Amino acid sequence: MGIICDTHMHSSFSGDSKTSLRDMAVRANDLGLKMICFTEHMDFNFPYLKGEEGMFTLNTDSYLYELLKVRSEYEGKMDIGYGVELGLKEDAVRQNAIYIKNHEFDYVIASLHLVNEMDPYYPEYFEDKTDEEGYVTYFKSIYDNINKFQNFDCLGHIDYIVRYGKSKDTDYSYNKYAEYIDPILKFLIEHEKGLELNTAGIRKGLKNVHPLPDILKRYRELGGELVTIGSDAHDTSAIASDYDKAMEALEYAGFKYYCMYMNRIAEFKKIV
Ligand SMILES: [Zn+2]
Ligand SMILES: [Zn+2]
Repeated sequence: MGIICDTHMHSSFSGDSKTSLRDMAVRANDLGLKMICFTEHMDFNFPYLKGEEGMFTLNTDSYLYELLKVRSEYEGKMDIGYGVELGLKEDAVRQNAIYIKNHEFDYVIASLHLVNEMDPYYPEYFEDKTDEEGYVTYFKSIYDNINKFQNFDCLGHIDYIVRYGKSKDTDYSYNKYAEYIDPILKFLIEHEKGLELNTAGIRKGLKNVHPLPDILKRYRELGGELVTIGSDAHDTSAIASDYDKAMEALEYAGFKYYCMYMNRIAEFKKIV
């Protein structure tokens, strides 16, 4: 197996997953993974316009309690990281900073799930704009957010927005959005932040992983070295999914190593 970890996994501690943390771990171990990291959702100030109040507020203490139990069961067989997928939001900078400071996570993914108080998952986001406007607004918002908050290890699914556009990725390329993507990549590199390779896009009907292989290549050209790999699985069937596509993208971009974080420190693994 070329990639031995899955560093983006959710369990029922995330409001949009129904699978227990233990079931996720059992399946990951059955698949032969040597390291997994749970990255449950924590989104402060999430506007619950469609109900489900508190859905993305993590019960961090219960999560840690369960994780430590399952981690001990797999000692010596598979490492289990204690991570979080933290929602970037300009009015949550202080809450995010305090939260991360007060918890000893192994790995922090920063992800943008909202733009201008709207969740692009719902079609309303694209109702009054073209896909191009919607994508540009998303990239600009990532840039604005990471300029305000940096206590994270890796930027999650940089082109997540493309999943939800009317045309999805049919008219989407790195070149078309380079002027908005390059500043994000340069900022990540300057601040020693990683870029996540997330395979969920393929399960959502896209042709490629997040980010597009050309973006991954550009990150490397600019000097980026920290790429993590995750499936963003919310159930057992998605764990380590489409890793063949992840390998292809890494190879295309010229990476010989990927990395995993424990204790907020990157450990490099050679791609074999
Ligand atoms: Zn996410
Ligand atoms: Zn996720």
